[in-house]
Amino acid sequence: YSEEQAKRKELYNQIQDTKGKSNIRVFCRCRPLSKEEISAGFAQVVDFGAAKDGDLGILTGASTKKTFKFDRVYSPKDNQVDVFADAFPLVTSVLDGYNVCIFAYGQTGTGKTFTMEGTDQNRGVNYRTLEELFQIAKERSESFKLEIKQSAEGFHHAPGIVEAQVENIKEVWNVLQIGSNSRAVGSNNVNEHSSRSHCMLCIMVKSKNLMTGECTNSKLWLVDLAGSERLARTDAQGERLKEAQNINKSLSALGDVVYALATKSNHIPYRNSKLTHLLQDSLGGDSKTLMFVQISPSERDLSETLSSLNFATRVRGVELGPAKRQV
Ligand code: ADP
Repeated sequence: YSEEQAKRKELYNQIQDTKGKSNIRVFCRCRPLSKEEISAGFAQVVDFGAAKDGDLGILTGASTKKTFKFDRVYSPKDNQVDVFADAFPLVTSVLDGYNVCIFAYGQTGTGKTFTMEGTDQNRGVNYRTLEELFQIAKERSESFKLEIKQSAEGFHHAPGIVEAQVENIKEVWNVLQIGSNSRAVGSNNVNEHSSRSHCMLCIMVKSKNLMTGECTNSKLWLVDLAGSERLARTDAQGERLKEAQNINKSLSALGDVVYALATKSNHIPYRNSKLTHLLQDSLGGDSKTLMFVQISPSERDLSETLSSLNFATRVRGVELGPAKRQV
């Protein structure tokens, strides 16, 4: 397998980040303008001119533009296959014994679920990952076991948890459907519900190298985070307010942990939230982390977009600078 492993390593290293050695990658993906946005005349504020270099421009005013740098930038023209091609080396490194954590962050309605779950016709990272893992296992014909845990109700209370051992991709699809349906059933409005809960899929991989007899246990987390829209915007009260505060707390705790890792801080504040506590052994150390920051192209969402991009920039360990004036 060493040849296969070397190939995966090379593929992974091709996704260079600016700091070179970090195990944290941030990919930015922008959804298309919706029909409603087009008919309401909202302008597109995202500039993909230098997207192939990982540069993203946001028009913040008539003559101002702010630029951001990521490991990958996807415009609405990039499809699920394009996106998965870049995530692929990362997810397969779970077969080499690494823990991997992939999460989608962003405002509700920006495509987090589209990227992770996808649709029947346009399957996302979750399904494609599992399909690849099974395919590689088949090619190796080695002893290989996958266990899936999925929680759609949020990580700290059990109701939405689905646990299953899966033998093939059909079984996987069934488990994924159960998880995603329980997300929908919990509320009259799927979108509203998904904005309020993290959908977490944990795949435990046990694999045995038949040549060396060596066994590895690794974990892959695929997480569709709750919507990042700021508390100030929600008119929540009572239980809903508490829920919104918890989501805010867990998202900022996640940001703090990844920032501490990216800047190689001595103290990594895993214990500040249940989310980071749960993900602890898949964030940091040898683990590999990929964050999709999802954004809307519409001028209507500009302030949320900037806030998500600032969050994502900080996650890469980069200090935030002032907006640049364009002449
Ligand atoms: P979120 O999970 O962030 O709330 P969704 O994944 O539900 O957002 O996406 C909102 C809508 O935008 C959905 O109708 C989805 O199909 C569509 N959408 C999102 N991203 C894309 C994309 N890259 N291409 C086409 N449609 C997209």
